[in-house]
Amino acid sequence: MKCNVCSNKSSLVFEGKILGKYNVKYYLCPVCNHMQTEKPYWLEEAYSTPIAAEDTGILKRNYDNRIIASAVIEGFFNAGAQFLDYGGGWGILTRLMRDDGYDFYLMDKYSENLFARGFDYLQGSETELITAFEVIEHLSDPIQTFDEMFKLSSNVLFSQPYIPDPVPQIGNWWYYAPETGQHISFYGRKTLEYIAQKFRKNYISFNDIHLMSDKTVAQEDFETVIKNSQYIYLTQTQKRRSKITDDMEYLKNC
Ligand SMILES: [Zn+2]
Repeated sequence: MKCNVCSNKSSLVFEGKILGKYNVKYYLCPVCNHMQTEKPYWLEEAYSTPIAAEDTGILKRNYDNRIIASAVIEGFFNAGAQFLDYGGGWGILTRLMRDDGYDFYLMDKYSENLFARGFDYLQGSETELITAFEVIEHLSDPIQTFDEMFKLSSNVLFSQPYIPDPVPQIGNWWYYAPETGQHISFYGRKTLEYIAQKFRKNYISFNDIHLMSDKTVAQEDFETVIKNSQYIYLTQTQKRRSKITDDMEYLKNC
């Protein structure tokens, strides 16, 4: 099977049972370390509920992501500009970021916008930074999606655990999440370096948080910001004027 990141030949590494019933082949690329399932034919079923009932961590994750996103914005970007949460699901992070005073918008082709109504991304808006938390493991064509994101913004911040080396068997890494059928793409450091290089971006990473950007950010500075994100959030973000009231007024007049 052809690697859907670097187009080299991927090799079969194991089979796993997805959604409790489909025997699915997993392929690993020896060149870029990208792992992918065979062509996913079960996605309609997997997304019949886009956000799985067992996803009890959804709010905690969004609270944590808000702190990381705020700190990275304060550290390296123009906090007064517009931002986009790509693949932002129900709009929880978009709403939380607006609550903290950042001009965030939402884009998600597969999910209903529940919490950030009125703040869907408008085509053509200039976007300082895209956030894409819990997104790239869902992609059947990662290059196409990164291409789409980089057309919307020069800078993309996202989360993703590297696939362990050597590659674990299906039952030995929780992130495969075969019971949901939604995780179909897995990445090593080499995979993400390859993608960054392809789009001529600088790539920096710490603790499963990744930034691909036109900016040159020193590894040390990125680490400092991620490690101190809680402090940056409390001291800088909390000084910003919340958009809760302004958004309500705006929506009333819509
Ligand atoms: Zn590859």
